[in-house]
Amino acid sequence: MSAPFRVAIIGAGPSGFYAAAQLLAVDDPVFAVDLFDRLPTPYGLVRAGVAPDHPKIKSVTRAYDKTASHERFRFFGHVELGTDITRQELLERYHAVIYAIGTATDRRLGIPGEDLQGSHAATEFVAWYNGHPDHSGLEIDLQARQAVVIGAGNVAIDVARMLALGPEELAVTDTADHAIEVLNASGIEEITILARRGPLQAAFTNPELLEMGELTRADLEVVNGDLDELSQAALCDADKTRTRNVEISQDYAGRDRSHPPRPITVRFHYLASPVELLADERGHVRAVKIERNEIVERDGRLAAPGTSELSEIPAQLVFRSIGYTGLPVAGIPFDEARGLIRNQGGRVLDDSGERCVGEYVTGWIKRGPSGVIGTNKKDSHDTVAKLLEDAAAGRLNAPAGGDMEGLLRDRAEHLVEWDGWQAIDAAETAAGRASDPDRPRVKLADWEQLRQASRGIAGPAGRT
Ligand code: NAP
Repeated sequence: MSAPFRVAIIGAGPSGFYAAAQLLAVDDPVFAVDLFDRLPTPYGLVRAGVAPDHPKIKSVTRAYDKTASHERFRFFGHVELGTDITRQELLERYHAVIYAIGTATDRRLGIPGEDLQGSHAATEFVAWYNGHPDHSGLEIDLQARQAVVIGAGNVAIDVARMLALGPEELAVTDTADHAIEVLNASGIEEITILARRGPLQAAFTNPELLEMGELTRADLEVVNGDLDELSQAALCDADKTRTRNVEISQDYAGRDRSHPPRPITVRFHYLASPVELLADERGHVRAVKIERNEIVERDGRLAAPGTSELSEIPAQLVFRSIGYTGLPVAGIPFDEARGLIRNQGGRVLDDSGERCVGEYVTGWIKRGPSGVIGTNKKDSHDTVAKLLEDAAAGRLNAPAGGDMEGLLRDRAEHLVEWDGWQAIDAAETAAGRASDPDRPRVKLADWEQLRQASRGIAGPAGRT
C-alpha cells in the first residue's frame, strides 16, 4: 500500500469532523488526517454554540469521538493558523488542506448606538454562557429589567430562552459557572424578540419556536403577529416549517396570561426594524428606536420596507442576533462581500478566480452561517468529493516538508493532543457530577485552567 495522502483540516467543529470521517473511510487512496483547532478543546459550535439546555444535540460528539479514535487521525489543539503555523507551512507538509474555520464573528446592524454599553453581539453572549475562554470575561449586566434581542433566527431564540431559564433549570446544564451565577441573579422581566418581517418570514425552526411555549417562568405575547394580505396569500405556497411557524405564532398570540402572571414576559414583536439604540446620560443603552415595517411585493418577492412610523422599546440590555460572518485568516483568499473564503464548490479560488492547488473549504466559512449541524455532513461530503476527484487526477499538492508534529513540538508551546482533550473532558465531567448528579460537566472557561487540565494538573478547588 502506498503512503497515505496527508490532509490537514483546520477547525475541529462539525464540518471538520465530518470531512475527517469521510476521508478516513476511503480505502483507495488512503488518507491520514490531522485536525487542528485554535482551542485546546474540539467540537467547535457543538461545545461553544449549541445551547447548554440542548444536551441531545450535543450527543453528536459521540460520532466525532469515533472518528478521533481512528489510527490515521491526530488532533492538534491549541494551535492557531496564522500565529503558531502559517498557511505556507501547511502547504509544505500536506497534500491537501481543508479550512473548516466557521464564521467567527457577528454581522453588524450599522445603526447609531450599536456599540453603547449594554449592547452585545449575541455571538459573544452565546460564547460567554458556553464557557468559551475568549469570552469568559464578558460583562453582562443582568440587573436590567428589559432586554431586546434583535433578529428572528434560532440564535435569538436561544438567547431569549437562556435569559428566561430558572436556577433549577440551569443547574443541570453545562452552562459555564460564571454565567450561571449572573443568570441566577438576573432581574430581567421583559424580553422582546424583534423581527423585521412577519411570522411567515421568520427564520426560526419549529422545535425551537415551540420550546418558547414551554418556558416555565415566562408568559408570551405577540405584537404585529396577524398576517397581512400578501403573506396570507403566500401561505399556500410556503414550506412546512414556515406554515407551522405561523400556526405556533397564532397560538402564542391567542394565549392568556398565567394566573398569577409569570415573572417574565417574552414578546415576539414582528414587522419592526431597529433604527437606533438610544443612550441614557451614562452612555448606556436605554431604548431601541424602531420603525414599523410593512410587507409589500417588490420584483415578484415579498419585502418589508419601513413605513416611517417610529416608536421606542425601553431596553437596558440589547443582543444583536442577525447572523454570523467570517473573518479573513492567514492570507487565505477571502470574499469580503460574502464574509467567506473565496471558493467554488469547496475548492479555494485566488483573487483572480484561479484554483489554489490543494486548498479546500467546508462548513459555514464555505457556504455561510446557515442550516443545522447535520447540514455540514452533506457540505463536507461535497468538498471531500472534489478533493477525491483531484487526488484521482493527480492535482493535489506535492508536499516536500516533513511531518508537522516536529514543527509543532518546537513551535506550539501548549500543544494539546487528543489525550490532552480527554484529560480536560475527564476533569470537566467529574466536576459536573460533583456539582449535581445530572450535570454533564462544569466547563473550564479559562485558558490556563484548560492548559493545566490537559496535562492532568488539578485546578482551583481541586476541580480538575
Ligand atoms: P439566521 O437564522 O440567519 O437569522 C438571522 C435573523 O436576523 C433573521 O431573522 C434575519 O431577518 C435577521 N436580520 C438580518 N439582518 C437584520 C437587520 N439588519 N435587522 C434586523 N434583523 C435582521 O441566523 P442565526 O439565528 O444566527 O442562526 C444561524 C444558523 O444557526 C441558522 O441556520 C440557525 O437555524 C442555526 N441554529 C440552529 C439552532 C438549533 O437548531 N437549535 C440553534 C441556533 C442556531 P431576515 O430573514 O429578514 O433577513
